[in-house]
Amino acid sequence: MVSRRDFVKGSIAIASLLVAGAGLQPVLSQLVRPKFERIAPDLQMGANVRYVYSSCLGCNVRCGIKARVVKVGDLEIVERIEGNPYHPYNRAVSLNGNGKLGSQHLRFYHLPYNTPVKEALTKWHGTLCPRGQDGIYYLYDPYRVLVPLKRAGPRGSGKWKPISWEQLIMEVVEGGVIEETGERLPGLRDFFVYGKLREAGFEDPNAILSDMKKDVQEILEYAKKPETSYEDIVMKIEEFKEKWSKILGEKGLKLEDILIDPDRPDLGTKANMVAYLRGRGQGHTDYMSARWIAGFGSVNWLRHTSSCQLGYYAANYLWAGYHDIQPDPVSSKVIIMAGASMGRLHPGARARAS
Ligand code: SF4
Repeated sequence: MVSRRDFVKGSIAIASLLVAGAGLQPVLSQLVRPKFERIAPDLQMGANVRYVYSSCLGCNVRCGIKARVVKVGDLEIVERIEGNPYHPYNRAVSLNGNGKLGSQHLRFYHLPYNTPVKEALTKWHGTLCPRGQDGIYYLYDPYRVLVPLKRAGPRGSGKWKPISWEQLIMEVVEGGVIEETGERLPGLRDFFVYGKLREAGFEDPNAILSDMKKDVQEILEYAKKPETSYEDIVMKIEEFKEKWSKILGEKGLKLEDILIDPDRPDLGTKANMVAYLRGRGQGHTDYMSARWIAGFGSVNWLRHTSSCQLGYYAANYLWAGYHDIQPDPVSSKVIIMAGASMGRLHPGARARAS
């Protein structure tokens, strides 16, 4: 039996011979040319078939899709997902009229919007990456999570149980108990400092919080001065604690009910222990996230790019000295893909993959 290593070695040896004999480029282009069969759109239409135009959420490119939905008895089933040829992200590919695909390597543009839908369905095809076409499997995956799952054992035990959306919201807000272990988990209420002050009887919690912030700012400015010693800072913090313990104590609150750590007032209030991770989104999502988290009182929120893009830029910079490197497959003569499929490149996956 030939091992994988021997096979690769043998292939390289044969390729080298061929290259030596016939010149580099034609041979390499033969070796790396992907084999594929073109799949024409399925034009079946009728009373039991309809097309639904939507967006793929397989990644943040959000290509346009065209889902073919068929009726089977009382059920409607998504049978196939293709690219939406009207969508700016999806290259439109023409049919020759005889069922064969046309000049797909030349066309990079979407269909003009005034193209009638019937013509679009019968004469044009929108490209889509394999993950987008896989959308059917996301939709009908038997393991797809459709309800909230709550941990039903110690952390890491991998045990979960379904709960209702009402219970989820209630426990996120009020806190909850892991019944199987007896752990009590805090809810947003435990970190909502504004609410705590209000419940304690402070009529204007914002005024209290902004006065406290001014005092913390003063300590920070004081700490920056070259002549300030460590002991001076500790003394200032003690004064701060004494002042605010008294003010809060009059309404039955302690400083530790409000601050993350009274000895480190610069860390802010307990609201900062809530970080909002918003995942992928566009500018409007930033606006909503910032507004929500500021209303809650925390300064901590992250977007998808706070981790994903940062890793991408950092790795590129360390490797090549540039932070943003994008492939240019259209002008490349030879492409070596390692552990990735060409069709899964993004953004603009379809144009590049084609
Ligand atoms: S690139 Fe692929 S996965 Fe991403 S949105 Fe487009 S079709 Fe979906």
